Amino acid sequence: MTNKSISNRDMNVLWHPCTQMKDHETFPIIPISRGNGIYLEDFEGNRYIDGISSWWVNLFGHANSYINGKVKEQLDTLEHVILAGFTHEGIVVLSERLVKLAPEGLTRCFYADNGSSAVEVALKMSYHAHRNRGDNRALFVSLTNSYHGETLGALSVGDVALYKETYEPLLIRSIQTPSPCDQTVEAANEAIAQFERLLRERSSEIAALIVEPLVQGAGGMVMYHPHFLTQAKWLCSEYGIHFIADEIMVGFGRTGTMFACEQAEITPDFLILSKGLTGGYLPLSVVMTTESIYGEFYCDYNPYRSFLHSHSYTGNALACAAANATLDLFEKNRVIEANRELSMAISDGLKRFVGRKEVKETRQCGMIGVIELEGFDPKERIGVTIHRLCLGKGILIRPLGNIIYVMPPYVITTGELGLIFDAIESALNELTL
Ligand SMILES: *Cc1c(COP(=O)(O)O)cnc(C)c1O
Repeated sequence: MTNKSISNRDMNVLWHPCTQMKDHETFPIIPISRGNGIYLEDFEGNRYIDGISSWWVNLFGHANSYINGKVKEQLDTLEHVILAGFTHEGIVVLSERLVKLAPEGLTRCFYADNGSSAVEVALKMSYHAHRNRGDNRALFVSLTNSYHGETLGALSVGDVALYKETYEPLLIRSIQTPSPCDQTVEAANEAIAQFERLLRERSSEIAALIVEPLVQGAGGMVMYHPHFLTQAKWLCSEYGIHFIADEIMVGFGRTGTMFACEQAEITPDFLILSKGLTGGYLPLSVVMTTESIYGEFYCDYNPYRSFLHSHSYTGNALACAAANATLDLFEKNRVIEANRELSMAISDGLKRFVGRKEVKETRQCGMIGVIELEGFDPKERIGVTIHRLCLGKGILIRPLGNIIYVMPPYVITTGELGLIFDAIESALNELTL
């Protein structure tokens, strides 16, 4: 089997995510035959370092022997069971562990099977909890430049025009308040002042504020100070609206703490987790909430008061086994502490790019490093060019337009991180020759 034989067949029957398929007439899709640690290998033996954790999901490498073992064990016992009226040990253990790990007060776990679905769950729960108290609030607030997924509800509360604009007539009501423009406390305070102004005018219509804590991912890895979250949570409580923390990307150590909300010392009303939850193995997501929200729905059976939401694969047992194995690895290897060294290596790597004429700025939050370019015409699709140049050097990165970022699995070494930065540097040198 060759790369070409697979990719040609692929082009006859597949339609890939977030892709203009015609692009692949000139640049073939890459078929991966196996994964091992941070490496992906194609059918011709070329290896690629997975510098973006396969779309931000993989934490401990591909085909991790420990997680593999736990999933195989589960496979021989129970692959899946309906989660209405039934439960299984894996999901009970996982929920107990998440309650212990998450900010104090998040005591209830509601599962779905991908990030966007979990965002839908949180939006519906928030609206419904208010409604159960006789309060009709059908408006959500999010930050400018935010991303919360691509199903219609999740898309509605996002603010990335590229994904949203076309579907505008289909969306539910949401408004945006400015996100902090940089990582300073001043920028956080400015954004808070605007948010407070909005609340003074319209808080009675608003169900919840939804945010990506500390880093806005798909919007271009925009980073801000935890002070914003602390203040925003306080304002939400003051004005009686819910605070939804979408930690789908930043959860599980990405920002340097297990959850980004820890850095702001807040407990959101809803915490949404997915991506890293299963170590990048299987689709699973969870919405964690408080006993107080849970209480709004707890009563003698009443179809209007109950949260009658479900997905077929809710709480899949194999996914829970992968999630429990992932949490084992966090404990056993003291991952959050160990990542500090990697995080310093990312910081060192970024230093090489400071002062280059095509670099606007570099920034970092924990295990995410960013090189933002400037001076390129969007029509040039500079990100695509850099992606391809780096693939040629055995490195998988996937810039968001002019934003190059590195978000590696936690099992990478500082040496291997260096290889990623070497590839980016030499790609930039080729571009600007
Ligand atoms: C990826 C992502 C989502 C959507 O999750 P999917 O599993 O891709 O549906 C939502 N919010 C954030 C912050 C994300 O990074």
